[in-house]
Amino acid sequence: MPLSRMIKIASFISVLIFFSSAVLSQNDIWNEKQCAVVLTYDDGTDFHLDNVIPVLDSLNLKATFYIPGNSSSLYKRMDEWRAAAKNGHELGNHTLFHPCHGKSLGRKWVKPDYDLDDYTVVRFINEARVNNTLLKAIDGKDKRTFAYTCGDTTAGKESFVPQIKKMFVAARGTKRGTNTLKNADLYDLKIFSVKNQNADELIGAVKDAQEKGVLLIFLFHGVGGGSPYSISAEEHSRFVHYLKQNENNTWIAPMVEVAEFIKNGQE
Ligand SMILES: [Zn+2]
Repeated sequence: MPLSRMIKIASFISVLIFFSSAVLSQNDIWNEKQCAVVLTYDDGTDFHLDNVIPVLDSLNLKATFYIPGNSSSLYKRMDEWRAAAKNGHELGNHTLFHPCHGKSLGRKWVKPDYDLDDYTVVRFINEARVNNTLLKAIDGKDKRTFAYTCGDTTAGKESFVPQIKKMFVAARGTKRGTNTLKNADLYDLKIFSVKNQNADELIGAVKDAQEKGVLLIFLFHGVGGGSPYSISAEEHSRFVHYLKQNENNTWIAPMVEVAEFIKNGQE
């Protein structure tokens, strides 16, 4: 074989190696998948036990449920929540009484007793601590993530984020957007808020995340009812079936697991 031909073959092979390693390192990004998707469900309602957990379990997909300690569903159906945790779902902390800023932000539905305008940081953090005790009594776990109630991060005018950082692996916010592995703010994780969209809109967002190689966190409230922000049970089911079919390139895991993965990468 002439030398020039050998050189051509050798350079062709090196180009092949270069591209295959580029593809490999890309696949490495999210636990060897192209992107990550976290399903989060807020406020601990019966609709999650009835319309979400059964379909997730049928597909062996794991999610995070942010539960305030005063959830009546948690009181009445504690065994089912305990079973969900045992089955790999995360019970996330969402304070005890779900306080939010009322007066200053004109949220009329906030009860005066639970208005963050009148809270202190100590009172807020104590609520989060006691809810950790409650949730630990249910799932036995020491590590979990937090979701800011209404996305609020201050009591009165003082930030409680520094204390939240000491207590939780991560905290989910309510700002819209996606999160990159290198630059994700673990104590203000961005979200896609599910209101009344259909499955196709959610699937479109996942396809976008696959292309960009980012973490996409869905924030669900009601599923099949239970909130003014509700997706129908049928559309939710269609969406999670799509996720299951895309498990080969999309990592679907609870918030705490994905947050620990990011933490390890950022350190
Ligand atoms: Zn909430």
